[in-house]
Amino acid sequence: MVRHRPSAAGRPFRLVPYFFILSLLLMGSATALMAGYLRHYSAEQLLKLEKSRAASLAQIFENSLWPGFRPLIPLAGQPDRLRQVARQAELRDAVVRLMRGTDAIKLKVYALNGLTLFSTDTRQIGEDESDNPGFRSAASNSPASELAHSHSIDAFEHTLTERDIISTYVPVHGPDGKVEGVLEIYLDATPFIVATAHQLMWLTLAICALMGVLFVAQMLVVRHAGRVIARQARALADANRDLDHRVAERTSELEDANRRLEDEIAERRRAEETLDRLAHHDPLTGLPNRLLFQQRLHRLLERSALGEHDLALLYVDLDRFKDVNDTLGHYIGDQLLIAVAARLAGHIRSGDLLARLGGDEFVCILAQPGDRAAAGDMAHTLLSLFDRPFAVNGNDIYLSASIGISFALSDGADVDTLVRNADLAMYQAKAAGRNRSQHYTPQLSAAAAERVAIERHLRQAIEGGEIDVHFQPKVDSVSGALVGAEALARWTSEALGVVGPARFIPIAEDSGQIVALGGLVLEKTCHQLARWRDDGIALLPVSVNLSVRQLELEGFAGRVRAVLDRYSLSPALLELEITESVIMAADDALAALEALRALGVRLSIDDFGTGYSSLAYLRQLPVQALKIDRTFILGIGAGGGEAIIRSIVSLAASLGLETVAEGVEDASQVDFLGSAGCTVIQGFYYGRPTAADEFAARWLATAQP
Ligand code: C2E
Ligand code: CA
Ligand code: CA
Repeated sequence: MVRHRPSAAGRPFRLVPYFFILSLLLMGSATALMAGYLRHYSAEQLLKLEKSRAASLAQIFENSLWPGFRPLIPLAGQPDRLRQVARQAELRDAVVRLMRGTDAIKLKVYALNGLTLFSTDTRQIGEDESDNPGFRSAASNSPASELAHSHSIDAFEHTLTERDIISTYVPVHGPDGKVEGVLEIYLDATPFIVATAHQLMWLTLAICALMGVLFVAQMLVVRHAGRVIARQARALADANRDLDHRVAERTSELEDANRRLEDEIAERRRAEETLDRLAHHDPLTGLPNRLLFQQRLHRLLERSALGEHDLALLYVDLDRFKDVNDTLGHYIGDQLLIAVAARLAGHIRSGDLLARLGGDEFVCILAQPGDRAAAGDMAHTLLSLFDRPFAVNGNDIYLSASIGISFALSDGADVDTLVRNADLAMYQAKAAGRNRSQHYTPQLSAAAAERVAIERHLRQAIEGGEIDVHFQPKVDSVSGALVGAEALARWTSEALGVVGPARFIPIAEDSGQIVALGGLVLEKTCHQLARWRDDGIALLPVSVNLSVRQLELEGFAGRVRAVLDRYSLSPALLELEITESVIMAADDALAALEALRALGVRLSIDDFGTGYSSLAYLRQLPVQALKIDRTFILGIGAGGGEAIIRSIVSLAASLGLETVAEGVEDASQVDFLGSAGCTVIQGFYYGRPTAADEFAARWLATAQP
């Protein structure tokens, strides 16, 4: 807000009235002073003049009359005699004669003791005037005059009234020059004073007139000046008002602009924050995303004093998450990811960072793990979070995770290397059976290199005949008799040596070579069956594992039929094992399975219990057997495993399906499975997968009648 300055024109200086009063006062005073002074001066001059006139008159009296008065001096002590002296009348006549034609209207003569020797007013003869100051001054030889206005006086012949009279005391000297007496001469100054007063009046009038003209002239000038000043003050006030107005206008404009700018800035900041958040966070879980993770890790790695074991990466990957997504749908998958993220985030220390890199991959930066063991403990803590199921949309979902750990700076000094090595370690944890953590070791890099090598050599292996098929027996749980076998791929590579299926099957799946490989295994299995048949050996069903890629092949059932036909084999001799997750993942799995079933081949669900198939869906599938996953068999005797197996067996029974337990390694497992009603057993307890000849020798010979 603009505060208005007090306007200069608000209280204009009232020049004219002030000047009027002041100059009136000054001029009045000046005039009065001047008039007073003139008056005083003229009175002075008058007295001086009269005094000198009186002195010259006195001189005349002294010369002509004093000798007549001198004889009276001795009578000065006797007033009555004085008055009666006969000479008085004589003297009076002489005085009157002398005074005629002068201004003198009265004369008195004093002895030195103050007694009046003579007066034209005879009544005054003999009076004592010794106290009179004028007399005393003259007695000491100094003439004195005094003026009396409007005086009545008894002159020689008559009484005069309303006169201005000057009386002058003049000393009279004897022949020795000593003062012998005093004369008092009264002069009538009236005409003179009247004339002077007249002159004074005119002079005063002239001064007044002059002052008046001066005053008026001044007033005119001042009034004009006042008008000019007032006009300028008004103009100034207008200008000020205008300026104030413009300042106020401009200020409010600026304030508006400022407010708008502030709003804009705030909005932009909000937008930037939102953008920043979007750019650096995963929209699904709200966790930091790959970008933010990389930035943070980069900054931490740049820290100058980063020591060994000061920073660890935990690369967390959910096990079989794809199955959840495929079986329960993406919505549940997303909800599960949110739940997992929340549970993990709840156990991240402040200063550490949990990010989602995408899919089911999370990464955790441990800022100060301390040592390798501490990072391992943290990984263990995170893994234990998966012990409890995740409740998502009414489902209790069991899940596990695999964690790879890498350390700065021993396992990498830059973001890419550290992440790649943690990823490798995670991959290794998965390969080692999942639900575990694995520290990175340089050997893991070797594993990664090996993976590349496997992929490169696999094609050549498939085409060049390095792939062989081994057979593992399936045995009746009660009688112990052989009921069938599972065909498993074996690869002895010229370059790499023996490579287990657990290593090359996933790579074949990833690279798409599984189709060729699976076709080869089917071909070789059928070929082997035909050979045994041709050797006169009684045949039992052999199962072959099927990949999702094969199941999805156009006309896959026709290809199977072609192979069977080529070797003139009954479809009943072939069983196809399809993992639960494969069935859930395949497009239109039901139609494909029905086509296969229509051929007359047996179908079984492999690794049952690890997927998430619903009972309703299972019921629709044209399968004949469930293979209980090895992890449940491992749970036998460890608590909980038995109950699950029992429920799977009863479920299978209710659907009219055979149950096969795989990975059975000891007698107690066999005992339990038998008692639980599981019909078929497969595992090292009865026999490892072996080459065809060995298998035939060990199993098929005894099967012959
Ligand atoms: P799978 O289908 O579950 O096969 C059973 C696996 O368990 C075999 O491993 C077998 O050797 C192993 N096994 C059997 N009994 C026991 C036991 O008592 N204890 C233990 N520890 N293991 C036992 P293998 O041969 O290494 O095969 C691994 C996986 O590779 C198979 O698991 C299967 O999923 C896949 N696979 C093997 N051959 C083929 C194939 O020709 N085609 C496809 N698509 N997959 C194949
Ligand atoms: Ca199998
Ligand atoms: Ca299996």
